[in-house]
Amino acid sequence: MTAIRSIEKMTFRKILVLAPHTDDGEFGCGGALRKWVKEGKEIYYIAFSSAEQSVPQGMPDDILKKEIREAIKELGIPLDNLILLDYPVRNFPSHRQSILDYMISIRDQINPELVLLPSTNDTHQDHQTIIQEGFRAFKQTSMIGYEMPWNNLNFSTNLFVFLEENHIVTKIKALKCYKSQSGKDYTTDDFIRSLARVRGVQIGVEYAETFEVIRWVIR
Ligand SMILES: [Zn+2]
Repeated sequence: MTAIRSIEKMTFRKILVLAPHTDDGEFGCGGALRKWVKEGKEIYYIAFSSAEQSVPQGMPDDILKKEIREAIKELGIPLDNLILLDYPVRNFPSHRQSILDYMISIRDQINPELVLLPSTNDTHQDHQTIIQEGFRAFKQTSMIGYEMPWNNLNFSTNLFVFLEENHIVTKIKALKCYKSQSGKDYTTDDFIRSLARVRGVQIGVEYAETFEVIRWVIR
C-alpha cells in the first residue's frame, strides 16, 4: 500500500444524514458514519420512509423500523438521534412540500454543519425528492451526496473518506441487520467490500467511500 501523503481531517462536529428509506444511509455512507462516531462526532439520521408498502410477503409491515434501530445501534449512533418518518415509498414527489417544511424545521432544531444525502445523479424518484428538497432546505450548509451505484446515472467521485478494515466490518454488520432485504445483490459482503476497495484503490489506500461534493462552505 502506498504511503499516505497528506490527510485532511474532517472538522465538522454535527452531521445530519438524510436517508429516503431505511438502509440508504448505511449503504451510502455506513463506513464514514462509523469512522465519525469513533471520532466523537454528533450524528443525526433521518429516514423518511420505512417502506411499509414494499416489505416482503410474510414479514411484519414495520419490520424495517425494527431493523434500522439495530443497524443504527451497530454503527454506534445513539437511538435518540434517529428520526423515523412514514412517507409512502415511491410517492415522495407528491409530498415534496411537506418534506421541505419538515427539513426546514429540522434544520432550525439541529443546525448541522454537514449534510449527507443521495447524489444529484440518483434516479430513484424518492431519492430525487430528498436531494431537491434537501438542497433547498440546507443550501447554506456543506452538503455531500453518497454513492448508490445501482441508482446513479453518473457519479462524481470528488471527495473520498479513508476507511479501515474495522469500519467496513461494522458497515457489513449494520447492513446484515436488514434481514428483510437480504435477497438483494447490493447487500452482500462481497459487493460492499469490493466497492470500498475500488474507491480505496483510486486514492492509494485499502478502503474508502466516495462522495459528490454538492456544496462546500468554509467559514
Ligand atoms: Zn432508497
